[in-house]
Formats: sequence, structure tokens, C-alpha cells
Amino acid sequence: MLTPLPARIDADRLWSRLMTMAEVGKTTGGGVCRLALTDEDRAARDLLAEWFGAAGLSVRVDDLGNMYGRRAGADPDAPPVVFGSHLDTVPTGGRFDGALGVLGAVEVVHALNDAGCRTRAPLEVVNWTNEEGARFQPAMLASGVLFGPLPLEAAYAARDASGRTFGEELDRIGYRGSAANRLARCAAYLELHVEQGPVLERAGTQIGVVEGVEGISWSRVQILGRAAHAGPTPMAERRDALVAAARLVLLLRDAAGALGTVRLTVGRLDVLPNTVNVVPGAVEMTLDIRSRRDDDLEAALRAADRVCGDVASADDVTVRRAEFWRSPATPFAGRVIAIVAGAAAGRGYTAARLWAGAGHDAKYVADRFPAGMIFVPSAGGLSHNEEEWTSPEDCARGAAVLLDTVLTLAELDRTA
Ligand SMILES: [Zn+2]
Repeated sequence: MLTPLPARIDADRLWSRLMTMAEVGKTTGGGVCRLALTDEDRAARDLLAEWFGAAGLSVRVDDLGNMYGRRAGADPDAPPVVFGSHLDTVPTGGRFDGALGVLGAVEVVHALNDAGCRTRAPLEVVNWTNEEGARFQPAMLASGVLFGPLPLEAAYAARDASGRTFGEELDRIGYRGSAANRLARCAAYLELHVEQGPVLERAGTQIGVVEGVEGISWSRVQILGRAAHAGPTPMAERRDALVAAARLVLLLRDAAGALGTVRLTVGRLDVLPNTVNVVPGAVEMTLDIRSRRDDDLEAALRAADRVCGDVASADDVTVRRAEFWRSPATPFAGRVIAIVAGAAAGRGYTAARLWAGAGHDAKYVADRFPAGMIFVPSAGGLSHNEEEWTSPEDCARGAAVLLDTVLTLAELDRTA
């Protein structure tokens, strides 16, 4: 199906907005530090509100600080087609993660304006609050309240490292809106995003048609040995929790590799007492496991528990694992996936189907509404890194697929 294409993406205009936004919270390393609800985030939001206005969008803000820019449709009662992403970053973030999805959406609206296109369904561009979870945990906090399991009170009470709460900071930057402004109806949701991995670039593929968001399991693993003096305690008589932890990290990696269906990461170690002259008595480590099938996550957790048991007996330590967060695998809507694939094909772009290994707001939205994502290549697969890079051409191709997908979902009513 070839959509007539009255509207076109202006690659230069999109790139110029991306680079202007990247100035907000710019780091010396060429990246961006724009943590949620900081002064930098407020400046980014103010700029976006200005751009919403310039695109003719009416702006509203909900009680979690999510920003929506609405474009009327021919049928005012139709649920809107919604698309966007997030403007917050990690401390040493890049210029494209999140920003491309929001500014690509703004560019889609400009393209429709330029061509005089009206859609049947209204359109809404969204900027989700605190997607990264770098300042306030959990990640995807705002969409997690709207469509996921997170209670509003828990979100407001989330504290950053300096003790300030999400609710206080939302007030401080002036972005606590009304609960009545929340996204309540949605025909379909789309998120354009950089891949953040190497698959598309390595294959020389231009567009990633995302089939879903992988399931994630987070556990804490506690290893209890016995603290002892580093001098007088003979090597053979130690119950060194860190030596056991080191062995465990390697065995967990091997176990995950043997399964082949998951990715497993030990990303944090807390060593007690963490002192030069004491045999470590305890270690706490985190375990992050991801897979596109919940059964595979379970299999990986069973394998992890076996390995924990092996290390416990071999090193004479106690090992306990407890899962503290789980996000089930979330397949996207078949119809949305098909329309994204059709849009890429219609433009003559090369495309591949893949799954998102990182969390995205689209995951929680997909729990309530039909949703999908469009990926474009990340140079070297790098993301959450100041050197994150996606070429102007790739950004424009992603926006073009977003444009065509939105037009199909919202149905073109008339052109000028
Ligand atoms: Zn992101």
C-alpha cells in the first residue's frame, strides 16, 4: 500500500531543532546532562512548549508533568493518534535518545502543516516525564503511573540522591499540571527512537520495525562470608565474599551464554566493609536479565539460582537472590507493526524487525493502547554515552516513517 505523500519531512529543520535542544544541558564531552525536573529539564520543556506553539499545537500538562501538544482532527470525537518520547537524559547522555522521538514528532506536525494536511483523528505529540529514571526511580515513572503499576503517591514521593522528591521538583519547575489533562484516549501510540544497539548499523539497515519490548527482571544477590583480618587469616581459612562474588559473576555470564536467549548483567557490587586490610565479609550485587519471552527469563533465573547454589557450597558462603522488579515482555500491536513496516517499504527504505532491549514509555502505553516503535541506527551501537550519534539522514528517514505511519493511522482527511 502506497500512501500518497503530500507531506514531506524537512531534514534540515529537524536536525536544527535536535542540535538546538542538545544545547540545553550540553556537556563538555559533547553530550547532554538533562536530568528529569532539573533547571535544564525546565529549559528544555519551555523550548518545547514554544515549538509546540509554533507548530500550532495546543499545549496541556498533566499532574505528572507529561506535556501534550494537540492538533485538531476533522472528527473531534475520534481518539487521537499519539506520538513522542522523552527529553530527560542520563548524566552523560547523548543528543538523540528521547529527543529524536519528541522533535521528530514536532517535525511531522510541521510537515503536515506545510502541506495543508488535515487528518480525521486528532494528533497529539507527547513528552513523557522522567523516562530515564536516572534521577528518580523507577524509570518510565510517569507512564508507569498512567498505564503501569506505579501508584501516584509513590511517584510523588520518589527521592533523588539529595533527598528532593519528584513532587516537590515538579512544583519547583512549574510543571505540575492537572490530572484531567492525562492521556485518557488513544487510537494508537508511536515512538521514534534511536536503536541504542548495533544491529541496524551492522546490517546496513535503515529502519527498525520494533515488534515489542523485552521483559526485564532485576534481582539483588547477597553473598555472606566472614570478614577477617587481611594479615593473620590464612588463605585456606577465609570465607571471602568478594572472591565468591567474582566467581559468581563469571559463572552467571557463562550460564546466560549457554541459554542463548537472554542477556544477563551484573552492574553493581557493594562490598562490605570495602577496606584495604579486611577480607570482605559481604557483597551485594545486582542482576539484570532481559529476554523477549517471559519463559526464557524464568529459565535464566532458575539457572542463576543453580549457579548461586554451586558458589555457596564451593566457597563456604551464603548466597541469596531476591527479585525486586519485573517488567514482563510486551509485544506491540500487530496492526501498528504492519503499518510501520509498510511505511518503511513505501519509502523504499531497508528495514528489519527487532525487539527493544531497553525500557521505553511505549511499553507501559502498550499495556493499555495499540502501540509501536520505529528505530533508526545508532553509530557504533552507542547510547547513554556522550558520543551517541545518528546521522541527519537517518533521523529524517525515521521521521518520514513516523509521518507516513501517523497519516495511515489518523487517516488523511484532506490536503490543501
Ligand atoms: Zn530513550
